[in-house]
Amino acid sequence: MTETVTNWAGNIVFAAKEVHRPRSLDELRALVSGSARVRVLGSGHSFNKIAEPGGDGVLLSLDGLTGEIDVDVSARTVRVGGGVRYAELARRVHEHGLALANMASLPHISVAGSVATGTHGSGVANGPLAASVREVEIVTADGSTVVVGRGDRRFDGAVTSLGALGVVTALTLDLEPAYEVEQHLFTELPLEGLDFERVAGAAYSVSLFTDWGAPGFRQVWVKRRTDEPLADFPWAAPAVEALHPVPGMPAVNCTAQFGVPGPWHERLPHFRAEFTPSSGNELQSEYLLPRAHALRALRAIEGIRRTVAPVLQICEVRTVAADEQWLSPSHGRDTVALHFTWIEDTAAVLPVVRAVEGALEPFEPRPHWGKVFQLPPDAVRGRYPRIDDFTALARVLDPAGKFSNAFVRDVLGG
Ligand SMILES: Cc1cc2nc3c(=O)[nH]c(=O)nc-3n(C[C@H](O)[C@H](O)[C@H](O)COP(=O)(O)OP(=O)(O)OC[C@H]3O[C@@H](n4cnc5c(N)ncnc54)[C@H](O)[C@@H]3O)c2cc1C
Repeated sequence: MTETVTNWAGNIVFAAKEVHRPRSLDELRALVSGSARVRVLGSGHSFNKIAEPGGDGVLLSLDGLTGEIDVDVSARTVRVGGGVRYAELARRVHEHGLALANMASLPHISVAGSVATGTHGSGVANGPLAASVREVEIVTADGSTVVVGRGDRRFDGAVTSLGALGVVTALTLDLEPAYEVEQHLFTELPLEGLDFERVAGAAYSVSLFTDWGAPGFRQVWVKRRTDEPLADFPWAAPAVEALHPVPGMPAVNCTAQFGVPGPWHERLPHFRAEFTPSSGNELQSEYLLPRAHALRALRAIEGIRRTVAPVLQICEVRTVAADEQWLSPSHGRDTVALHFTWIEDTAAVLPVVRAVEGALEPFEPRPHWGKVFQLPPDAVRGRYPRIDDFTALARVLDPAGKFSNAFVRDVLGG
């Protein structure tokens, strides 16, 4: 291998024969058509080997391509290059008086990598980030370009695709008029008597945080659009100081709080673009399950909290509206997402990951594709009713499996 490449967390060193950063689309096409095995690395924020090509494969980074961001104000859309990150995209979109519907907890991640793994923010009415995608442009195995837009029968397989169909060189996203958001933080919300539906639906985007040291939530982050009514939040006390969700981390890393209105892209993410997001020394897991089971699932984790807490930095609970992408973890189910930021110790964390998976099993959790999980591949596969449609699409666009890898083969069953 020509250089050592790791993911953002540093827990994965990617096995690859070569690493390339093509500087033009023609160079990229030639690399793809001339290689037997290819995977693309986005911004590397996944915690598993989803992006790894394997020792006989080529790892492509799109950092060498000019990051196209082309806003069409009248159509309210933006075309973004395959390597563009949300931070830069959001700033440019906002300059045109427009906005994205939602963002993840951090703006540091690439758009193509995020929608490929079903990355999401929060909000009972907000789908995952992929829900904004209206068209995807893919360089396929022979180096030619395929464009798949909404309405195309392949579309629901083409966005949340685990990088298995080809190199995404551009995406077109829906925009809406820019809006402002206020971020109100509350502390100490008890689990006892929790009305999850009302709490989660109290504003445009709501996140609950607990370290499972006690059976309740240390913090609740309520993100209200100023163009929507102000709802009461009678269940917990307003925070009296600025907070970071991870205990011991400085609040200065986080977006503005205390209800100060600000642009959507400086409030929807928890973490500011100029600072390290989250703690920086960590592993992450996340499980998405039907929202109707939220309270029972939380109780199940409460039942093993003494196992979970010693290796946990923070657990975040969010909601995601059902979407149609065949491989989306929120496919067809209004979802609650239970996220775990673990300490950076794989050996200590994996047994606890298995314990969490055991506790959540009755609710048929789907793991976040970009995070650490231990569920057996056939259990995961069985939770995706359209997985055969995805496999068929991959066979058509990539007949020799050039863009497959061990992770994808596990998911698709060989
Ligand atoms: C601190 C932190 C906070 C996070 N917060 C959230 C959160 O709030 N919500 C959430 O859902 N997730 C969250 N994640 C997870 C993260 O969003 C996902 O791992 C996401 O995939 C990151 O995008 P990436 O570009 O880094 O993807 P990578 O890890 O680089 O790649 C992911 C997949 O996308 C493929 N890919 C990337 N670019 C392309 C391309 N151009 N063409 C084809 N395939 C491509 C890769 O091959 C790989 O299969 C967080 C991660 C971190 C480290």
